Amino acid sequence: LGSVPDSGLKLKKAFARFDGLEQLETELDLADLDDQTSMPEGCRCAEVLTGRLIPPECPLFDGACTPSSPVGPCMVSSEGSCAAYYLYER
Ligand code: SF4
Repeated sequence: LGSVPDSGLKLKKAFARFDGLEQLETELDLADLDDQTSMPEGCRCAEVLTGRLIPPECPLFDGACTPSSPVGPCMVSSEGSCAAYYLYER
């Protein structure tokens, strides 16, 4: 879906004792997260989740991507939009 510049959530200083990042003294590098959250090649989950595409319009649906062999995150969980479509609308 992309990221919104200068956005994000963080606990107020008064609640810092509940902040896992503060507790672990860990720096969160969003650039590293972007590397880890890129979509598998050909996966159209972003378009499915934003209503611009229905799962069968993805070229990998019911071919390379099935619930028993998912390519993208929308097919992994039984609650995923592609998996639900595969199970109930195919
Ligand atoms: S989860 Fe599978 S079917 Fe759904 S958009 Fe990604 S690749 Fe296509």
